Parts: sequence; C-alpha cells; structure tokens
Amino acid sequence: AQKRYAGLRDLPATDKAGTTIQLYMNAGLMADLPSLDGSGAEGVGLFRTELQFLTRTRVPRRGELAALYAHVLDSAHGKPVTFRTLDIGSDKVLPYMKPQDEPNPAMGWRAIRVGLDKRGVLRMQLQALIRAAVGRPLLVMFPFITEMDEFEDAHRLLMEQLAREQRLGHAMPSDIRVGAMLETPSLAFAPQKFFEMCDFISVGGNDLKQFFFAADRENERVRRRYDTLNTSFILLLDQIVRRCNQARVPVSFCGEDAGRPIEAVTFAALGFRRLSMRPASIGPVKHLIRRVDLGGLRQVIDEAVARGETNLRRSVTEWLARQSH
Ligand code: PEP
Ligand code: MG
Repeated sequence: AQKRYAGLRDLPATDKAGTTIQLYMNAGLMADLPSLDGSGAEGVGLFRTELQFLTRTRVPRRGELAALYAHVLDSAHGKPVTFRTLDIGSDKVLPYMKPQDEPNPAMGWRAIRVGLDKRGVLRMQLQALIRAAVGRPLLVMFPFITEMDEFEDAHRLLMEQLAREQRLGHAMPSDIRVGAMLETPSLAFAPQKFFEMCDFISVGGNDLKQFFFAADRENERVRRRYDTLNTSFILLLDQIVRRCNQARVPVSFCGEDAGRPIEAVTFAALGFRRLSMRPASIGPVKHLIRRVDLGGLRQVIDEAVARGETNLRRSVTEWLARQSH
C-alpha cells in the first residue's frame, strides 16, 4: 500500500480548490522517526511519551529523558515534533506506581490529573523537554484537559520550569508553544478565553468520542457501535473548529479517525487544516483529499444536517463516489 502512494510523497494534500491540509504523523518510539521522511509527513503532531515510562522498573531520570527527546528532535531534521506530556492512567500502571484499583480507570486518576497532583514527575519531564530543545522550538501539549483551570495550572508549571532553567544559566529553546488536547466534551464548552490562551489545540478523537457517546473505546461490544460520522459528533467537531477559528488558534485532529480517508476528508471539510495519523495512513488520506473539493463536501454535510440525517456517512460516501467520475 505504501508503494501505491509513493508518488504522492512529496506532493501537498491540496484539494481541487487549492486548500492545503497539513498531514502529520503520530509517534511514540525512536523507531517511528524514520517514517517521518518515508511517509512525507510534515512533522510529528503527537509524540506519546508513555512508553519510556512504561518499559522501566523505575522513574526514568531527567538526563535519560532529555537525551532521548533530543534524539527524537535530531531525527526529525528540523520538522516540528509535538510532545505530549505523560498520559498515564490506572489502566496503564507504571511498575513503580501504587495500583489505584479504580472502577473506571479511563475516567479516573489519569494524565494531567496525575501530573498536577504529583507534580514531581511532570516537572521533571518538562525540564527534560526544555533541555532537549535548547536552541530550537519546543512544542508541548497537555493531555486530557477537562477544564480551563487545569490548562492554566499546567501552563504555569511549564513557565516555572523555564524560569528555573534560565536562573540556572542554561540555554533556552528558541521558541515555546503550548497546547491542550481536547478530548473531553466539557472542554469544547470552556470559556472563549481558554481557546485564546492556547498556542494550539489538538482534538484527541479517540477519547473525545468515547466520552461523547459514553462508549468504552476498549470494549469490543460497544467500541464500534457509534459512528464517527454520527451527526451529533460532527456537530461537536464543527463547534470546536468554529471556536478555535474565532480565537485564531490552530486546531488539529490526532485520533485514529484522522487516518481513515472518509473521516479525514470530512474533518478537513469542517475546517481542520491539520491532521495527525499513523504514517501508513498519510498516502491514502492525501490521495483522497487531492481528488475532492472540500467546499463541495462541506455543502453536502450542511444539507444532510439540515435534512435531519442522524448519520452523515451515506451522504458523504455517495458524494465521494460521484467525484471519481
Ligand atoms: C486520543 O484520545 O484521540 C489520542 C490521540 O490520545 P490516546 O489515543 O493516546 O488516548
Ligand atoms: Mg487520548
């Protein structure tokens, strides 16, 4: 499949009307980095940092992490890498963390909640990221932000670490951008000030969908029950894009659905200008974007919503099928 799209690698994901969608890749291992060039991704839209914590018997040391993050940045050859701070829950128990025995770990003490309650680890990770990015841009995003205050708190923690590094006389990253992952429905309704405070927002569609439909993403019986192109979910995404545009904050989509071509063009039609996905999905998604007029698809979506369709998949796929002739 990779070969089939190889010819597209160096071409932009530009639709027929000239709108370009930036395609980024998700990563979590050093071994993922070679795909950056191979896939034609413009950068890493989501670097999951959990693995380095999960594969050790103790908390990794700051120096170890800084070296690893620097290596990731080196291997990206100047393409942007967005690091997501530790998203650990009591389902992904660290060997050196006390098990929490929570009835609903996905809705439990996880991600930024742990980071803000047990600040030592988050502080250490932020210091490692700052040191890794000396002399180059640093992009950090915080997972599972549920209300504005959590973002403010995490942002402050990062600023404190920057001030500390400066006090210690260390060199600094050349630029710092701080973003939030929007993966709980409540954050879509945060005050407009929240959107203005972020340098960027990344929609974590896997979790956002799980919590929007109250359907466990790990539970085989329900995880495919609700369609991403369900009109209610699309209207939620539409509102998120609208609010981000109002605040002039760049918004991307980085859940698994960004790598599914039909979903991806739908998100692009809603106004997402950046999608982050598995490297192997970049070719197929780019191929489809280049064949359509996103404005035309937007109209199809609006009309289907106006007709009261509860699911947009049929309208979208029928329209897409007509585009190839
Ligand atoms: C998401 O929730 O969509 C996401 C990208 O994060 P993860 O899959 O790591 O929870
Ligand atoms: Mg998530």
